[in-house]
Amino acid sequence: MAGFLVDQMLMRLGRWLRLLGQDAANPEDCDDRELLQRAIAEQRTLITRDRRLAEDCCRAGASCILIESSLLEEQLLEMRRQGIDLELSPQRCTVCNCLLQEIEPPEKSGEEFAKESAESKMWRCECCGKLYWRGSHWNRMQDMLERLNRDSR
Ligand SMILES: [Zn+2]
Repeated sequence: MAGFLVDQMLMRLGRWLRLLGQDAANPEDCDDRELLQRAIAEQRTLITRDRRLAEDCCRAGASCILIESSLLEEQLLEMRRQGIDLELSPQRCTVCNCLLQEIEPPEKSGEEFAKESAESKMWRCECCGKLYWRGSHWNRMQDMLERLNRDSR
């Protein structure tokens, strides 16, 4: 799969897909026609809750996933049915979808990091410079995914 293009109605799902290591572009201020054109041009699978847009997408011969639920957790399960593993994987910036680079954590990398990180891995976004590490926020997300994986096997 050559990545996803996520409708801006589904920003939160897009962010989560990036947390799962998926290439999920999430453009803002993009109308339906532009979205469709971009999906075709970049061979991305369009993800939307808009049935009409999904139908247009099919007619145009582009691949599309129609999300039914308005609830994030249900949406993640819908993506799992499409073959997406619900496992956190630090590869993509949640903000801009750029690739992350693993970096050596700086000696003094802020109290938050020192306090929270159980291991010494850190990642930095190639584009915006945002830093990522496996802290308490990471564990909370992991817990949620584990629960989803457990509850609905
Ligand atoms: Zn970034």
